[in-house]
Amino acid sequence: MDDRDGVIWLDGQMVPWREARVHVLTHTLHYGMGVFEGVRAYQTDRGAAIFRLAAHTDRLFNSAKILGMAMPYDKDTVNAAQRAVVRENGLKSAYLRPMCFYGSEGMGLRADNLKVHVMVAAWEWGAYLGADGMERGIRIKTSSYTRHHVNITMTRAKCNGNYVNSMLALQEALRDGYQEALLLDPEGYVAEGSGENFFMVKGGVIYTPELTSCLEGITRDTVMTLARDAGYEIREKRITRDEVYIADEAFFTGTAAEVTPIRELDGRQIGAGHRGPVTEKLQTLYFDQVHGRREAYPEWVDVV
Ligand code: PMP
Repeated sequence: MDDRDGVIWLDGQMVPWREARVHVLTHTLHYGMGVFEGVRAYQTDRGAAIFRLAAHTDRLFNSAKILGMAMPYDKDTVNAAQRAVVRENGLKSAYLRPMCFYGSEGMGLRADNLKVHVMVAAWEWGAYLGADGMERGIRIKTSSYTRHHVNITMTRAKCNGNYVNSMLALQEALRDGYQEALLLDPEGYVAEGSGENFFMVKGGVIYTPELTSCLEGITRDTVMTLARDAGYEIREKRITRDEVYIADEAFFTGTAAEVTPIRELDGRQIGAGHRGPVTEKLQTLYFDQVHGRREAYPEWVDVV
């Protein structure tokens, strides 16, 4: 990733891609206390546009607040940085990675002279779970790892350290021949994927877990809004894994994963074993929305 042309926004300046480096004593590298975002820009009629930029920046600032990290920039500056990295790298569509981290000003848990640094990078990135998965659906497995308890780490914050749990779960699932993990919360109810929110459909009603152990996904909110507008009923409730086994459809949502159908959990085929009609309809609405092909919610489509 580090050896390529382009520019990265780092602490208020555009720096050449290969020179956007930090010291090995960077505090966040040692303890994982940092916050980040995953954002996408899509090609639209009016050029590249960042989808729900304001919501992502709000969540980044909320994550920093939860961890007690003092943001050195205001939201307008961070939004401008995100538009600039897409523009200045000449990207038509992109995945963006803003991150706030503590620098190498001090070491140890008691370091009190740390500065918050901010970076934003952008590059081209296709379907996160593969183009084939978007159509056929993916096979997933209930993880042996439990999702975070709300008082062990802060699940509302998109915190770097939280992703050790995600990577353990994903690596286990991939090693066992599945494409993604389904993590349960500490009480055994469905929480989310390693980097996606979970939905299921039963009897025409759409269900998703409450926001206790899962991240408050922006795609989750987008899909719920589009589904309600299309007349679907959505219920947020505790979901058990056996409810998923007998669901009609299931899918993941996420900025990277977009709307990805799930065709199998723990060796049980879900519904007809391929992308279901509700999932397909929501995928279409989602892709039309992010590409600026719908008139609704123009404020979600932020042309760079
Ligand atoms: N849960 C986790 C653990 C994630 O990492 C993500 C990706 N940010 C999501 C859910 C989905 O969130 P969003 O739709 O905002 O990308």
